Amino acid sequence: MSGQAESGPVDVVIAGGGLIGAGIAWRAIHRGLTVRVVDPDPGSGASYAAGGMLAPVSEASYGEDRLLRLGQESLRRYPAFVAELEAATGHDVGLRTTGTLMVGFDADDMRALDDLHRYHRELGLPAQRLTPGEARRLEPGLTPRLRGAVHAASDYSVDGRALHAALLAALPEQTLVRERVTAVAVQNGRAVGVTLADGSMLHGRTVVVALGAASADLPGAPALPVRPVGGQILRARSLDGEPLAERTVRALVRGRHVYLVPIGANGMIIGATSEEKGWHSRVTVGGVFELLRDATEVLPALAEAELTETLVRFRPGTPDNAPILGPTPLPGLVAATGHHRNGVLLTPVTADAIAELLVTGELPAVAAEFTIARFTAQESSAARFTAQESSAARFTAPEEQDSAAGAGRPASQMPAV
Ligand SMILES: Cc1cc2nc3c(=O)[nH]c(=O)nc-3n(C[C@H](O)[C@H](O)[C@H](O)COP(=O)(O)OP(=O)(O)OC[C@H]3O[C@@H](n4cnc5c(N)ncnc54)[C@H](O)[C@@H]3O)c2cc1C
Repeated sequence: MSGQAESGPVDVVIAGGGLIGAGIAWRAIHRGLTVRVVDPDPGSGASYAAGGMLAPVSEASYGEDRLLRLGQESLRRYPAFVAELEAATGHDVGLRTTGTLMVGFDADDMRALDDLHRYHRELGLPAQRLTPGEARRLEPGLTPRLRGAVHAASDYSVDGRALHAALLAALPEQTLVRERVTAVAVQNGRAVGVTLADGSMLHGRTVVVALGAASADLPGAPALPVRPVGGQILRARSLDGEPLAERTVRALVRGRHVYLVPIGANGMIIGATSEEKGWHSRVTVGGVFELLRDATEVLPALAEAELTETLVRFRPGTPDNAPILGPTPLPGLVAATGHHRNGVLLTPVTADAIAELLVTGELPAVAAEFTIARFTAQESSAARFTAQESSAARFTAPEEQDSAAGAGRPASQMPAV
């Protein structure tokens, strides 16, 4: 038995300490809960690679209106979230509010950008069509070969690694348990903690799965429809210490996507591939070549910059590209995963919503559309997740579960996912 187990259960055990797990921990502790975050190498997953774009408008896609609204709500919360975190820790997380330019190179690129802009207008999103000259006045390093641009002034970016470091710094020392979770511990049909790679057990009244792309495979937990989506991404910096650009540029270069996100005084993140190869993606010559070829076409001065990093990580993808938030069919187990390409953007709203659920038993309305229930057709699961009059999804509080659905009920009778 570890010391953790002997000291009795904490309120919440969070499996996974990426941006999502660390963000939830910070907000839950703030709400007065005792929390442990279990992760052998926190922040080494997708959160380490992320471009840091906070870009609901430039990421908007037809058919993803719910995700867009969630992203906008999270972005709305970002300035206060960052201000509070920076004040609490003294860390600077590099929130940049300079907006995003979307640019295109040929007629097909511009048709795609105009389609997107039409969608922006239909939804009343703040975005403005620019001529190449206007785009270059905003960002003088852009190539003159552009055909046109759309400016999303309200899309921001943040330094994802700095944000994660600040979140860890904000947690009390005993919060972090540097171990691998091997399973969810289940007793009498409910999650009661996690087992660790060293064989010990950590008891928690509620367990949160925040393992990013690894969330699908946790023994003891119901299957979650999360898959790893590989992404190669690069970092560079100017040799003269001058900024390479002021704002994020997302480009369609004759049908190929590339983005450039300024970071720090003179850094640039260049991303990203999107690969459906399971866990097999690697940094490849072809991947790096294509990103650099397109990025230097967009911003020619980048060719003179130092290439400082190439890496691959795995986005936690879901069937509808939206996260899985809230109660699961296993009482006592909460999901906070599947943030796919938007996990940095969605950190504040996820952290607030899951903390609220942990404290009150109510998943706030903003997250109620994102429970696992949307992937299940079964009536029985609908009963557990139906939105209440308040339109907030409710999950049975631990105490109630003991006397109601949870206690003595074998896991096999839980609604299947
Ligand atoms: C190339 C790339 C670019 C991206 N760009 C952006 C962007 O610009 N904007 C944006 O909003 N999002 C972006 N994303 C998506 C974003 O990075 C993710 O959605 C987000 O980081 C998910 O956070 P997470 O905490 O759920 O997962 P992760 O950051 O992957 O964290 C999961 C954690 O679980 C831990 N873990 C795994 N297995 C175990 C285990 N068995 N026991 C204990 N711990 C375990 C890992 O060590 C890790 O720390 C990008 C992703 C990639 C890959």
